[in-house]
Amino acid sequence: MSTIGLEDRHSEHRQRVRQFVESEIEPVVEEYENEGQFPLELIDELGEAGLYGITIPKEYGGEGLDYRSFVITVEELSRVWKIPAGVVSLSCGLVGHTLVEFATEWQREEWLTDIFTENQVTAVSLTEPQAGSDANALETTARRDGDEYILNGHKVWTSHGAVADFVFVVARTEQTGSHEDVSIIAIPNPQEKEGFNIVRDIPCMEGDAVVESEIEFDDLRVPVENLVGEEGNGFKYIMAALDVGRIGVAAQGVGITQGSLDASAEFADEREQFGQPIRDFQGVSFKLADMKMDLEAARLLTYQAAERRDQDKRVSQEAAIAKTFASDAAMDAATEAVQIHGSRGYSTDYPVERYMREAKGAQIYEGTNEVNRTVIANHLYK
Ligand SMILES: Cc1cc2nc3c(=O)[nH]c(=O)nc-3n(C[C@H](O)[C@H](O)[C@H](O)COP(=O)(O)OP(=O)(O)OC[C@H]3O[C@@H](n4cnc5c(N)ncnc54)[C@H](O)[C@@H]3O)c2cc1C
Repeated sequence: MSTIGLEDRHSEHRQRVRQFVESEIEPVVEEYENEGQFPLELIDELGEAGLYGITIPKEYGGEGLDYRSFVITVEELSRVWKIPAGVVSLSCGLVGHTLVEFATEWQREEWLTDIFTENQVTAVSLTEPQAGSDANALETTARRDGDEYILNGHKVWTSHGAVADFVFVVARTEQTGSHEDVSIIAIPNPQEKEGFNIVRDIPCMEGDAVVESEIEFDDLRVPVENLVGEEGNGFKYIMAALDVGRIGVAAQGVGITQGSLDASAEFADEREQFGQPIRDFQGVSFKLADMKMDLEAARLLTYQAAERRDQDKRVSQEAAIAKTFASDAAMDAATEAVQIHGSRGYSTDYPVERYMREAKGAQIYEGTNEVNRTVIANHLYK
């Protein structure tokens, strides 16, 4: 089912990812989660297996595949564990897309190649305490001083910030308050830089294995060649990258929904009450049917957005629709999965409570679903 725009090579790619997930991730996910450890080794293994730089051209260390292969990869990873899926999604989406499309040739050769040959973890540092949905309220500055920029500011919710090998900092290079003041400054090997200070990892619903960092830049000096693309175009670059990033988040939603349905269908078949499997109760089977309907719709929207992107068409509205629908579907499916599992679903012995926590994040990052609905509505009048 749901084979819109997919070819045999996509099915083969799905098999490769699924095999990797079953042999390398499923056996260890609970250990990482219980120990609260970010899976750096798994990112390396993903790279070794040719499953990291999916959409990055081969000449820069990537796999040179299309966006349908990207969503299949992220979906299959998210079916079992969202954290590695989130790393692939961010590195190919917000970071990789921006470097491929807008960076200079020197930056592509230098940074993209390092990220995807060394399987580096990347991060994007945009959100600030006062600048969430209203990203243009950001106050972090990058002041030019000779052949350097000096960065000062305070960021929150930088995913992977404390473990990243490469960070995009979104900062103001001018102070007029316009979008056109905003630029992206790249920081390779940030942990080695004086003035890049991790304040803390924000304790959050998703648990300790995920790293959500609060960061301060205190007179952090970087060479001017670390400016990505052109000064004043940072906002434009991030908005373009979000079109791709949101397709990645949609794929996360599809994977979480599939994981929730698989776990629930199996549990409902095995668990007996009143002398029969609980799936025989209509109150349970209708929940499974609703999950399946949402899953198929979310998958179609996600593949459709990816296919349009593969055809080099604009996808702002399609990506916002897929992201919003698929992450809402994941939240609904995971919530019902917990309900179908009864008390067991509420315990950490089963994965469905984790799916519920993962789905909630996907409704918030890369534009909350309210902001994405605004994007969708605004497109009606374009
Ligand atoms: C798990 C996770 C990972 C994240 N990763 C990153 C990251 O890697 N890098 C990064 O820079 N940021 C990251 N973020 C931050 C994320 O992008 C912001 O949380 C998000 O943009 C919302 O900002 P806010 O939390 O300040 O909420 P606010 O903007 O304060 O919103 C609060 C509420 O008001 C609603 N609201 C706000 N404006 C409108 C509007 N115009 N119309 C309707 N409703 C509105 C919102 O939808 C929300 O429900 C992450 C967040 C989470 C939870």
